[in-house]
Amino acid sequence: MGVVGVLALQGSFNEHIAALRRLGVKGVEIRKPEQLQTISSLIIPGGESTTMAKLAEFHNLFPALREFVQMGKPVWGTCAGLIFLANKAVGQKEGGQELVGGLDCTVHRNYFGSQIQSFEAELVVPELASKEGGPETFRGVFIRAPAVLDVGPEVEVLADYPIPSNKVLYSSSAVEIEEESAVPEKKVIVAVKQGKLLGTAFHPELTADTRWHSYFLKMASDLGEETSNAVVAVSDA
Ligand code: GLN
Repeated sequence: MGVVGVLALQGSFNEHIAALRRLGVKGVEIRKPEQLQTISSLIIPGGESTTMAKLAEFHNLFPALREFVQMGKPVWGTCAGLIFLANKAVGQKEGGQELVGGLDCTVHRNYFGSQIQSFEAELVVPELASKEGGPETFRGVFIRAPAVLDVGPEVEVLADYPIPSNKVLYSSSAVEIEEESAVPEKKVIVAVKQGKLLGTAFHPELTADTRWHSYFLKMASDLGEETSNAVVAVSDA
């Protein structure tokens, strides 16, 4: 599996490191491009993607991050980290922000609205069920959460969230629901995988449940699988 790095510019990097520690793994804080050469997989935490992008730019991290992804190294982005990994992000101010890219999908940065529309939801994630019959449900913590609007052919959907018909999404979102029961139930994608890239719109690092971290560590140690990270790395957001 090698050394696991956690991008430590901003956001919930300490929480990821704590979750890894609970699994007996030491996560290394990454702030400089050259540090990426010392790790074999990387977690990009949740936080605020514009701020994180500005800091990444300041530290000249984007070229090294893109190279890391294109080399087929395992990378997991949670929330703002998922936005970083997406080839395209919408729902942001004019000009947008720089992205690392590599994950062939479009994300809406604030699909579910602002901070006060944050929520928790029980998700069905078949990939997390254990062979011993452990649960396939996972409590997702969504904070100013993004959602995946569309995915390319290489992308596997690991979880979606059926938006309850009485949930109000706001005008900044991709979908506007004006009134309760105005639309039938609709699903949005909230967890994806492409080769060695993993993206979750929610924050497993803010829960006591370490199954997503275990899943990523297993992904990172699986040597058998062909990687296809390097499909396209665009940042035209
Ligand atoms: N929507 C936020 C952004 O654009 C991400 C929120 C989060 O990481 N909790 O950065």
